[in-house]
Amino acid sequence: MSRYLGSVCKLCRREKERLFLKGERCSSKCTLDRKRGKNGPGQHGTTKGRMSDYAKHLREKQKARRIYGLTEEQFSHYYKMAEKMKGSAGDNLLKLLESRLDNVVYRLGLASSKRMARQIVNHGNVLVNEKKIDLPRYQVKVGDVITVPEKYKSNAIIKKLIEKTMGYIPAWLSFDKNKIAGTVLGEPPAGESSHPINSQLIVEYYSK
Ligand code: SF4
Repeated sequence: MSRYLGSVCKLCRREKERLFLKGERCSSKCTLDRKRGKNGPGQHGTTKGRMSDYAKHLREKQKARRIYGLTEEQFSHYYKMAEKMKGSAGDNLLKLLESRLDNVVYRLGLASSKRMARQIVNHGNVLVNEKKIDLPRYQVKVGDVITVPEKYKSNAIIKKLIEKTMGYIPAWLSFDKNKIAGTVLGEPPAGESSHPINSQLIVEYYSK
């Protein structure tokens, strides 16, 4: 299945919560704050009713998939990897998703959304341990240092983003504002995600 290219606000309306897919606009002019935005998309958007257990599991999986901007196949691939690892499949899944390079770039504040972070990585504007890595799926490891090329350091958008995001960096990452360099201090802790996700519901979805 190909990547979704439609309106990302529709995805939030479908999940009935802010998934912060559009960067800065999500905090100031969110579609969900408008009257129509409170309804789901499509002709059944206003339909209310109790969700079945299956629907709850499906929605949580879809929500996580949309937050990380993955296709169905990519997401299920991560789940299969998580199942093979030691420990809880749900925690492993979040750990794998959080460790993606595009997510780390977003969490360091070098992009205002995961979509923008993916673009920055795809365009070769991210270095890991001083080597260009243009794969958003690259899994960061403890000790990795994430920077941007010299020419990109003076980019006005990057400068503006860095000024704003210093307070939001998770404890497993650190960021040196002067060098514009982030370091992976440890693995993402169990249950860690940029957005609340109930990974147990996802495990139950795939266990059916
Ligand atoms: Fe979602 Fe952001 Fe659109 Fe609000 S503005 S609906 S949070 S993508």
